[in-house]
Amino acid sequence: MEKRDGLLVVLSGPSGAGKGTLCRELLRQEPNIQYSVSATTRQPRPAEIEGIHYFFRTKAEFEGMIAKGELLEWAEFCGNYYGTPIFAMEQALSAGKDVILEIETKGALQVKKRIPHGLFIFVAPPSLEALSERIHKRGTEAEEVIAKRLATARQEIKLVTEYDYVVVNDEVPAAVHRLRSILVAEKCRVQRNPFLFKEEHS
Ligand code: 5GP
Repeated sequence: MEKRDGLLVVLSGPSGAGKGTLCRELLRQEPNIQYSVSATTRQPRPAEIEGIHYFFRTKAEFEGMIAKGELLEWAEFCGNYYGTPIFAMEQALSAGKDVILEIETKGALQVKKRIPHGLFIFVAPPSLEALSERIHKRGTEAEEVIAKRLATARQEIKLVTEYDYVVVNDEVPAAVHRLRSILVAEKCRVQRNPFLFKEEHS
């Protein structure tokens, strides 16, 4: 059978909607998907490990990556830079592996411009109240950062119409089930399986 490129999955939506939790659970259930480790200038949180959760970089190092064209997309989010390194992602995709990016909305829209055949999924919180509660519960940000993140979330939610799918994160197991179903359906799309029909039409 003909080898095909992996699927690029972009999981996006407001911070605190639970993208990270859904992504981790999806990867636990689907270990063949590769997680794209982002670069950031944000300080590591306790328990975050270099190269696993992020590549932690200084502002100058990050700007160097931008200048050298090493990032597929990048965005400033609440005072820090975040970006997707191209190299590991391209390598995995061309080896036929699916890759997942967990990124905010400005970056996701840049990816959509560059790779329109990616799969774009918006993770939405059940409500803005639920979002506020989650960010507070996480307890990793100061109150003014939380306020900034909530204001950003209101803007991000308006961009949902740019995506292929929306998953409301009401219950993690149900939301992960929906994500997995989307991936299964997407791989069955006729446009994603051109080689199946090559013989008949040539
Ligand atoms: P956090 O600081 O909570 O880890 O991430 C803040 C926001 O940045 C989250 O919405 C997260 O999904 C997003 N993010 C993480 N990595 C990237 C990236 O490589 N590019 C972009 N555009 N956003 C990212």
